[in-house]
Order: sequence, then C-alpha cells, then structure tokens
Amino acid sequence: MTCARCDGTHWVCENHPDRPWDGPEACGCGGAGEPCPDCNDAAADELPVLPKGFDPALTSIEVMRPLVRNPAGKPRRKPLK
Ligand SMILES: [Zn+2]
Ligand SMILES: [Zn+2]
Repeated sequence: MTCARCDGTHWVCENHPDRPWDGPEACGCGGAGEPCPDCNDAAADELPVLPKGFDPALTSIEVMRPLVRNPAGKPRRKPLK
C-alpha cells in the first residue's frame, strides 16, 4: 500500500512533513528531506529507506544527513509542474 503522507517515497519535506520530498508530488520548497514518520521511522542506529538515486553504499544516517540537507536552499531536483 502506498503511504499517503510521503506518496510511497519514504521521505517527507522537513518544512512540510505532510508532503513528499521526492517523487512526482515532491514539495520542492528547498527544505531538507526527513524520513517519513509513518512508513520510514528508522531507529537511531538503523538506516531509513533511501530516496531514489541515493548511493546504497551509504551506511548510516550520519553519512547521508549532509546529502539530504540543502545548505544552498535550492531544491535538489525541481518537480516538473
Ligand atoms: Zn516543503
Ligand atoms: Zn510514508
């Protein structure tokens, strides 16, 4: 079943936690990604499901944090609207 909160992408927008961060319905506001609390609630020592395109060699949330953060304030990928 597709998660309604994150549209099945397992990630939500940090600024708008009710919107997906990735996929066709991505928020695109430029905020960082957060694992979806409904379907991707990994424990501190577990790795959440990665967004598409992330290197599966990433082994911890600490490693990927800087990648989902977006210091430039620009969306990683603009949704086509
Ligand atoms: Zn947003
Ligand atoms: Zn979800």
